[in-house]
Amino acid sequence: MKHGIVALMLLGLSGCLATSPTGRNQLMMFSAEQMRQLGSESFAQIKQQEPISQDAAVVAYVQCVADALTQPSLLQAIDPSQQERWQLVVFESDQVNAFALPGGYIGVYRGLLKAAQTPDQLAAVIGHEIGHVLANHGNEQVSRGQATNVGLQMIDVALGASGTGNREMIMAGLGLGAQVGIMLPFGRQQESESDVIGLELMARAGFDPAAAIALWQNMAQVSGGGGQPEFLSTHPSHSNRIAELSRRQAEAQQWYQQAQQQGQRPNCKVPN
Ligand SMILES: [Zn+2]
Repeated sequence: MKHGIVALMLLGLSGCLATSPTGRNQLMMFSAEQMRQLGSESFAQIKQQEPISQDAAVVAYVQCVADALTQPSLLQAIDPSQQERWQLVVFESDQVNAFALPGGYIGVYRGLLKAAQTPDQLAAVIGHEIGHVLANHGNEQVSRGQATNVGLQMIDVALGASGTGNREMIMAGLGLGAQVGIMLPFGRQQESESDVIGLELMARAGFDPAAAIALWQNMAQVSGGGGQPEFLSTHPSHSNRIAELSRRQAEAQQWYQQAQQQGQRPNCKVPN
């Protein structure tokens, strides 16, 4: 009896070794349901913090791109367990930033449109963000915090709506570091993985995957004007990124052609 309880506790604390969509080992200590809850709480928090855009044309444009990327059949082709009904909010802010959270939440800051200048480029950013969620990177990041003993009660505290310090750590783990002022950037492997997933997703949704390269070039250019885009502080770019994206173009272009033949041709109008 006693042994059973100890075993259960060990099981609960040791988490599980899982495999990411690209075959990497991952330590994840939280259940999908816990992650959904953390995503939902964090999204609610950001919505209280940031003004929500009332510009119908901008919102319709970003929604059009997000809808094309979050079609259940597309997401399930990459992650068969995907069942979320994704929600989008556009924030009225100059930040060059975007995020996606477990549970199916996407946030786009209006300032992002300075770097993501076409529907295809915007799809590259949102696809990359969804890639982090499909590959459970938030779970890995928060688990790492847990493992380094940021606090075993972190989850309880966050869900109990007290202890803002821990709440902010969790939000940083979910990729919201720029929003809470705690930089916990995704790692290079996580970035590459999200690039791979995002590229496939955008191409299958009927967006030109070549735009992913232009997007990262634009990101670099935006940061050239003084002040790094918030996006790059949590999604650090590395010198190989564009080379990797270029190397994967042939395959991605095939998905893109296929998608177009199957009638996947999102028609999202850039607002004036
Ligand atoms: Zn990233």
